[in-house]
Amino acid sequence: MAEGIERFIRPHLTEFHGYSASTSPDVLAGKVDVAPQAIVKLNANENPYGCSPRVARALAACNHLHVYPDDGQLRLRTMLADYAGAPVERIVASHGSNTLIDLIVRLFVGPGDAVVNSVPTFDIYRFSTEIAGGTVVNIPRDGNFNVDVKAVKKAINAKTRLIFLATPNNPTGNATPRDDILEILTSGRPVVVDEAYYEFYGETVVGLTEKYPNLMVLRSFSKWAGLAGLRFGYGVFPPRVARYLMAIKIPHNVSVAAEVAVRESLADLKYLQDKVKAIVSERGRLFKALEEIDWLRPYPSQANFIYCAILRGNAGELHKKLERQGVLVRYFDIPLLKNSIRISVGKPEDTDALMRALGEIKP
Ligand code: PMP
Repeated sequence: MAEGIERFIRPHLTEFHGYSASTSPDVLAGKVDVAPQAIVKLNANENPYGCSPRVARALAACNHLHVYPDDGQLRLRTMLADYAGAPVERIVASHGSNTLIDLIVRLFVGPGDAVVNSVPTFDIYRFSTEIAGGTVVNIPRDGNFNVDVKAVKKAINAKTRLIFLATPNNPTGNATPRDDILEILTSGRPVVVDEAYYEFYGETVVGLTEKYPNLMVLRSFSKWAGLAGLRFGYGVFPPRVARYLMAIKIPHNVSVAAEVAVRESLADLKYLQDKVKAIVSERGRLFKALEEIDWLRPYPSQANFIYCAILRGNAGELHKKLERQGVLVRYFDIPLLKNSIRISVGKPEDTDALMRALGEIKP
């Protein structure tokens, strides 16, 4: 029998296992051998080049931060429609695609409903489903982290409300072939294809949204456009789903600052695309360098990070040793992600710093 304030809290949330976000350099001040500003942050898949300089200039000059943004997101959705290649009535924007995932779950999932997830994958799908009182049905990916399409289809039953697919997948970096997505779409169940890393991969299923009324595609400005701190994401939805999402979203869920940042980013595409090219090229260099280390096994990636199995030694200890040298990576040691790290692709000098730090470690 619950006591105290817990008597009033939804019972499934008192034991809830939250999302563990990446470490911020601020919390490491004084704990590691380098100053916070010298830390090489390769743990959250941020863009090492930052956002377009046009964004910073326009934000400094913005004189309407005191006025609420347009709740209907009309100008914003028009700009995004152009970029994404989908009509305005299909677009919904939000402060980060995380919150769109949560909004979609709120629309489709209630207590007792099921969500099919191809694990390991981005943990927010589980997070939002469990908060909503739904059940996550985990379908393991194969040894190379490919989606087990047959098993996903088999797992679908009367309780299934949503199927999540991240492509490229976080944290493993591999993409899901279009044919696999098509096969899952033929189930007729609502499918969310999360393309947060699309710009580093180049292939999209946005074009399928006209044909499949059960397809939703999510995008983010956090990675390719360097706006992780500002928070902006959007999705392409069946028009009716877009209307429902617009109706249940919190009012003014995109700030005036984010609208300015999106406008300026889209006006500076060439600049941002050049940075994406630099990151993709650095990804190749980082992969080769990691392959040279006999106790690491990097997996090919279509995103801006590389997942590595650790063949000798322990991921937690490796993470600590790197942290002490001022290099932050993400580490995993859970049943689904055994003894492994995920390294974001940084600038060439970040790769050099990482390789120097790894060179000093003898597992
Ligand atoms: N989807 C995936 C697969 C991600 O990896 C992330 C960020 N880690 C997000 C969505 C959320 O991105 P944001 O909320 O910053 O747009």
